Amino acid sequence: MQKIFVAEPTIGKKELKYVIQAVKSSWVSSKGEFIRKFEEKLAKFHGVKYATTTSNGTSALHLALIAAGVKPGDEVILPTLTFAACASTILHVGASPIFVDISEDDWNIDPKKIERAITPKTRVIMAVHLYGHPCKMEIIKDIAKRRNLFVIEDCAEAHGAKENGKLIGSFGDVSCFSFFGNKIITTGEGGACFTNDVEILETIDLYKNHGADKKNRYFHPVAGYNYRLTNLQAALGLAQLEQLQKFLKIRAKHENLYRKIFKGNPAIKFSPKRNKSNPVFWMHSFLIESKKISRDGLMEKLFQDGIETRPFFIPLHTQLPFKKFVSGKSFPVAEKIAKRGIQLPSSVNLADKEIIMVAKKVLSYV
Ligand SMILES: *Cc1c(COP(=O)(O)O)cnc(C)c1O
Repeated sequence: MQKIFVAEPTIGKKELKYVIQAVKSSWVSSKGEFIRKFEEKLAKFHGVKYATTTSNGTSALHLALIAAGVKPGDEVILPTLTFAACASTILHVGASPIFVDISEDDWNIDPKKIERAITPKTRVIMAVHLYGHPCKMEIIKDIAKRRNLFVIEDCAEAHGAKENGKLIGSFGDVSCFSFFGNKIITTGEGGACFTNDVEILETIDLYKNHGADKKNRYFHPVAGYNYRLTNLQAALGLAQLEQLQKFLKIRAKHENLYRKIFKGNPAIKFSPKRNKSNPVFWMHSFLIESKKISRDGLMEKLFQDGIETRPFFIPLHTQLPFKKFVSGKSFPVAEKIAKRGIQLPSSVNLADKEIIMVAKKVLSYV
């Protein structure tokens, strides 16, 4: 049987056409029409004033923390159940990651626990929309406003998701996206920062571009980075962005196929959905509560059948570079969900019958 991967990009004729155009134009580096078009379309689609592309999602987060003015000794609040880049970039600006547990109802940072984690050193709340599920952005923004904190949204896993009718990426002071090969839309490697504030935009652009002053050539007021996207990558990204809605529809259909087959089985729990929240299905995430078989046992059996799956992230408060920042707190919800969570094949390319075959295999094992 042919192997089924957990996540493959969908690259078609449109991508090829735009990338060939970019190559032929000879604008292959970080200037060119596709960068401008991709950034404009990202901003317009999300209803934000500015989008600026970056070399990846991690550099987008790093730039957002710099733009927030985070300095050594500051604290940044984030969920413990997320990808490591969220916390690594906090260390890269010399600040301390302050981990908070998640809520059962969206698997995201629990606003009640944010309040308790705030100290005089807190500068930023980093809200991560985990596995396509929007955070409670209105509550988080309200806390940030009252406590004078900056909000960074990490939208890497949730392109197109909505909270209370509004697209994620339009709430934060800065919102960060990733276009890695397994994300909802891809540029190979790539990312973006969104903001409505022109000063924040200028700071991000300054640091992403060697700290180079736009007006005075070879004048560098700060030590910057080279965190730019290329025109070739932007060509791929524009083609992908033009198909975002189509991709999301197929993902929703696949999620429904999985659910239809799993329905009524007490061993498989679906991902949560709150009222007024519209998740997207970056990955088809389920919790395994079977008495017969563990999550890891199930993954192993599926692997033997040629079906690749993913476990959930390992909570960051348990990991070597970060655990020294944790003192006397517990994270029961994240620990429970992380152990049980599995992600089933989630590529847009998969045929309905392949999804049904995978779902039936899962069911036979639990
Ligand atoms: C993928 C991801 C990132 C990092 O993006 P890269 O483009 O791989 O650097 C950051 N945060 C989350 C939540 C992610 O899923």
